[in-house]
Amino acid sequence: MKRGFLAKQKRKPVNAQIPIEEQLAKLVLSNTVEPMNKSASSEKIIDPHKSKSTAQSSAFSNLSGCLLYVNFRAKEPLPVKLPIGDVDKSLPENYKTGKPLWTEVPAETTDTREGICATTVPPQRNGETLADNPDNWSECIFLSRRLKYKIISTPGFPAPVPRPPNVRHRLGPSAFGTGMFATCDIKMGELVMSERPLLVTSGGIPSLYTPPPGDPKPTAAQIIQATIQEYERLLEYSVSRMLPENRAAFFKLHNAHTKDGSGPILGRIRTNAIGITIDTYEQKDLGSVRYGAVFNEISYINHSCVPNVSPKFSALSFSSRVRAIRDIKQGEEILISYCKPEVSTAERQAELKPYDFQCTCHSCSDPSSDAVLWKILTSPLAVERLDCKHRLMCAESWIAEIERKGWYHLEVYGTHLSIAAMCAKVLKKFDVYHKYENIYEAWTEGMYGESRRIL
Ligand SMILES: [Zn+2]
Repeated sequence: MKRGFLAKQKRKPVNAQIPIEEQLAKLVLSNTVEPMNKSASSEKIIDPHKSKSTAQSSAFSNLSGCLLYVNFRAKEPLPVKLPIGDVDKSLPENYKTGKPLWTEVPAETTDTREGICATTVPPQRNGETLADNPDNWSECIFLSRRLKYKIISTPGFPAPVPRPPNVRHRLGPSAFGTGMFATCDIKMGELVMSERPLLVTSGGIPSLYTPPPGDPKPTAAQIIQATIQEYERLLEYSVSRMLPENRAAFFKLHNAHTKDGSGPILGRIRTNAIGITIDTYEQKDLGSVRYGAVFNEISYINHSCVPNVSPKFSALSFSSRVRAIRDIKQGEEILISYCKPEVSTAERQAELKPYDFQCTCHSCSDPSSDAVLWKILTSPLAVERLDCKHRLMCAESWIAEIERKGWYHLEVYGTHLSIAAMCAKVLKKFDVYHKYENIYEAWTEGMYGESRRIL
């Protein structure tokens, strides 16, 4: 577990005299949502491609509602959900703004030390404008200066931001305000659009506030409010470095967090950031790093628990590619899921609460959808015991059921496609094999940004 990562929360006893860190931990526990069905673990499901794609499922999650407080002073970072709604915004009694705890990293840095930094990716030279680089730049707050060095020293960096052969999207009015729409028919796996973020920030808020010694003991809520204030100062600095066009685009975005102590920048991040994983080429050194990214256009993509695209971030081009996970018709709204896909309606609604809207997609409005979802998630187990002929029949019926529901974002869809293809191959039904192989390749391209072959 590296700094900045969300550590597994350990349960601790709760009593009135517990120190601040444990009070914070208690807050996490009160926000913990129980698994959909504790009696059957989804880990038991046999999923041929799951090991390759575990990290990808989080590409669906939008960090905006659940930024986490990460306390580096503690042995393990303590994640705490930030406040939502109209809360008490009182600060610690003697709160004073401290010295900035971050540094600026030069464009072509070779600095590999630890520490919070504000920087621009790719490197931007003095006076360069969008006319010089239409792919744009991202302002970033990294929790380690090494990350920038690793990104810019990746061979081939920065790769151009990929574009579809023709423009396939537009922004326009939707039932949820502004949304993104397809301007032509788009096939499963095809690129809808891609974009470099305006702002990239850590997936957690680092501990930027320490109560001075001898200060009256602040409450956990006061410490969080002081930390939010300090973080907003860092964000202000980062936003001040943006090109004026990018800054204007950032402030045009909606802010659903005006009453919980979030400043205007953190509020917009919490409303609009998409969770990204930054994979650098030296995986063993840095691993995959979770960050939140705010985009000029991608941030306008609205939520559905039945999404039709998946965004995938590439560190090499420092951009997110939005690809279709099913065929999309011209004029259809482009939708991503802001929450975990394999959980109950109640859990999804809880995850969506900070965004200040009620999802009315057909999964949320159908009272039987949880039971069907659970059957689908556990279906590979039932198929496993059958002979090849019946496995194929069963897998095909689950594929049809998932398609009927529109749940192409479930990894189990890929599982059944692989099962169907493999069984068809054994049974020498090569036309059926090729059919599912082709769907699988297009679907993996859409879901994970890379076409995978059935093993
Ligand atoms: Zn929904």
